[in-house]
Amino acid sequence: EVRVRFAPSPTGALHIGGVRTALYNYLFARKTGGKFLLRIEDTDQNRFVPGAEEYIKESLDWLGISPDESPWNPGDCGPYRQSERKPMYMQYAMDLIEKGHAYYAFDTAEELEAMRVRLTAARVVSPQYNSITRTQMKNSLTLPEDEVKARLSSGEPYVIRIKIPRKEEVRLNDLIRGWVMVHSSTLDDKVLMKSDGMPTYHLANIVDDHLMRITHVIRGEEWLPSAPLHVLLYRYLGWEDTMPQFAHLPLLLKPDGNGKLSKRDAEKHGFPVFPMDWTDPNTGEKAIGFKEQGYLHDAFLNFLAFLGWNPGDHREIFSMEELIEAFSIERIGKSGTKFDINKAKWYNEQYLRAKSDEELGAYLIADLEKEGIHIRPEKAGQIAHIMKERATFPADLWKEGKFMLISPTEFDGEVASKKWNQDAITVLETYKEKLSVFEGDFNPETAKSLLEEAAEINGIKLGKVMQAVRLAITGVGAGPDLMAVFSIIGKEELIKRISFAFE
Ligand code: GLU
Repeated sequence: EVRVRFAPSPTGALHIGGVRTALYNYLFARKTGGKFLLRIEDTDQNRFVPGAEEYIKESLDWLGISPDESPWNPGDCGPYRQSERKPMYMQYAMDLIEKGHAYYAFDTAEELEAMRVRLTAARVVSPQYNSITRTQMKNSLTLPEDEVKARLSSGEPYVIRIKIPRKEEVRLNDLIRGWVMVHSSTLDDKVLMKSDGMPTYHLANIVDDHLMRITHVIRGEEWLPSAPLHVLLYRYLGWEDTMPQFAHLPLLLKPDGNGKLSKRDAEKHGFPVFPMDWTDPNTGEKAIGFKEQGYLHDAFLNFLAFLGWNPGDHREIFSMEELIEAFSIERIGKSGTKFDINKAKWYNEQYLRAKSDEELGAYLIADLEKEGIHIRPEKAGQIAHIMKERATFPADLWKEGKFMLISPTEFDGEVASKKWNQDAITVLETYKEKLSVFEGDFNPETAKSLLEEAAEINGIKLGKVMQAVRLAITGVGAGPDLMAVFSIIGKEELIKRISFAFE
């Protein structure tokens, strides 16, 4: 059975890259009939941010990609928070020590810093604690055995490090990148257990993926450099046979393709890079979210799916079911994907237009309630119907359609200076008279024929005055079909507006 996991660290708002990782894991699990797990990786207590875990949960719920097993919905291999699994890790570190693949290290922060300074002076580009330097440091490989015992029993702080072999080629076959080969001399003796008794990410991640029976690790490319170390850990722990397959997802790039997409870019260009609004409880810093900006969850999901994956043909609109059907790891690209907010907007427009007038009317009603305006669902639906082709977000239905419910108090001066003319006034005066005596059903057709009559009586071509008529009634020079607008505004209100325009 396929089992995949999303393993975020609760250090702040979930970035769009993280949501994409979650989505791809979810799609793969659904496609293969497997399970999608969520594990909170909170071993770094210094970086813990209150509220971050709730944020992760709410974001996934909003998108409809809730995990099958998680801290909130545990399966049979919990707990699903690493901080609650703390007692489980030490035995594996001890196992590694016994097998000679790990060792105790007693170096103080000062001693580590002194090593770094020494190596930098000797022009070592990236100073490492490795097969060469560990021979000069205080650890169970260099100290006499009884001294190690004495230090341990006196309660002296220590860490446990992995013993990386000096000369070995470490290989892994990534499902996206193919064979990745790294020479062990470029790896360092990473800490596995910290002095506070907490495992580091590396140890906890491998132990948990093993105990949770994870079959595929689908995660961001930033973790590719750690993968060889993880391969060694699987081998040394004797779990090579059940080692998961790796798939490292391509980076999300800035809109211009120069470098990794960051929070800064979002601030600079004013687009969201987080699923939902977030205020950092420590710094008070605010981040804007797709949700609050008016992105529909299914539009955002569709956009997200295409950030690194494509179906191999020209189709772009995919429902969740269709994504599950079409998804495959083989069709994930190797190279980074440019983040294009216009594409996100395009998706939103497509999804918005596909909604029924009733559904959109409900958005409009909700927005209007906030302004203290109440309208009938039927009217809201009519407004939504003629506005939806022009809206990107549900809020645009109101922002751009306001004039249908509220008479204009000012008129676009630029349009007026070019389009306003005596003929328009003449036509509208006649139209007003016709409206006041009209008894029939006032709809787009009758609104139009009355206006045509008003123009004809005065011998004026309607096309010449149309824009001025629009300006007088709506206050602006452009908008949706004017006769549909007239029928929504209604007879009485039109008469008032015509009078007002000429005062
Ligand atoms: N906790 C890591 C993160 O925050 C998980 C990396 C992995 O999936 O192995 O991205």
